[in-house]
Amino acid sequence: MQVLKRENGVILLRFDRGESFPGALADYCAETGLESAVVLCGIGMLSGTVIGRYDGREYTRTVLDDSLEVLSLQGNVSMKEGAPYVHLHVSLADHDFTARGGHLFEAEVSMVIELAMLELSPGLVRRPAGGDFWRLEAPQT
Ligand code: ZN
Repeated sequence: MQVLKRENGVILLRFDRGESFPGALADYCAETGLESAVVLCGIGMLSGTVIGRYDGREYTRTVLDDSLEVLSLQGNVSMKEGAPYVHLHVSLADHDFTARGGHLFEAEVSMVIELAMLELSPGLVRRPAGGDFWRLEAPQT
């Protein structure tokens, strides 16, 4: 992972082939003390992608093995149980240009991921809200 730019609250990162994603992003947040952010956009390619869909109680998951084009990637960063939690949703295109997508659990960077984030002041947290759902909150201090 490389920090290409970090200025005016915007961070532009590049993740390279073979890196775990979004694990490497969570590691970057932990190492730099980044607790709250909006992931504005990302492009690139992922493989071995585990995506899911929440049905109101739990996630249904599927694994997409092929190397797929990232059409869109966005979400946020908050603190969950004392560590940065990266919540991302992704749309991916296969070799037929068919799009699939969902909540991103894990993947491997198969070419590159170029990602832009907007850094926020600390304060975003995830709290359990029933089942697998953790609500995003910004408690007033
Ligand atoms: Zn989600």
